[in-house]
Amino acid sequence: MAKVYLSLGTNLGDKKRNLITVSGLLAERVGTILALSTMYETKPWGFESENTFLNAAIILETSYPPFELLEITQKIELEMGRKEKSNGSYKDRIIDIDILMYEDLIVTTEKLTIPHPFMHKRSFVIGPLAEIAASLVHPVLKKTIGELYLSLPAL
Ligand code: AMP
Repeated sequence: MAKVYLSLGTNLGDKKRNLITVSGLLAERVGTILALSTMYETKPWGFESENTFLNAAIILETSYPPFELLEITQKIELEMGRKEKSNGSYKDRIIDIDILMYEDLIVTTEKLTIPHPFMHKRSFVIGPLAEIAASLVHPVLKKTIGELYLSLPAL
């Protein structure tokens, strides 16, 4: 069993319901939920939109290896109505699931990069994660999530 740390985000539709639905699907298909953060309302990052985001972080215990986990999370995104991949640009979306960390594993491929390459630069990712995993150590930066949170602008 491995601990996996995911970031959840939504800025379309009934956002609170979207986060509750995605948490339920993750519990059903990925594994036991160990912790779920508060939902944070945040401004769109990297693009202009009237629709604010609701973000959260979740820790699950899973028996799936990273690439299978990615397939499951991408299927959930599609099933929940996500129409297209972002292709490097940022858009409104019903649900976004990012794999932030998988134990202290480092994966560097085109399809999957773990730790998520931008997690330490984004308050809306690190803030919720710091609430539930402040002492977790980022395996590349060798800093705790709490330390990374303190180095970013407040949410
Ligand atoms: P998205 O932000 O959901 O549109 O993701 C776009 C692409 O990022 C996907 O096709 C994934 O293959 C890729 N990707 C790379 N690393 C990760 C990660 N750690 N978590 C989720 N997706 C990732």
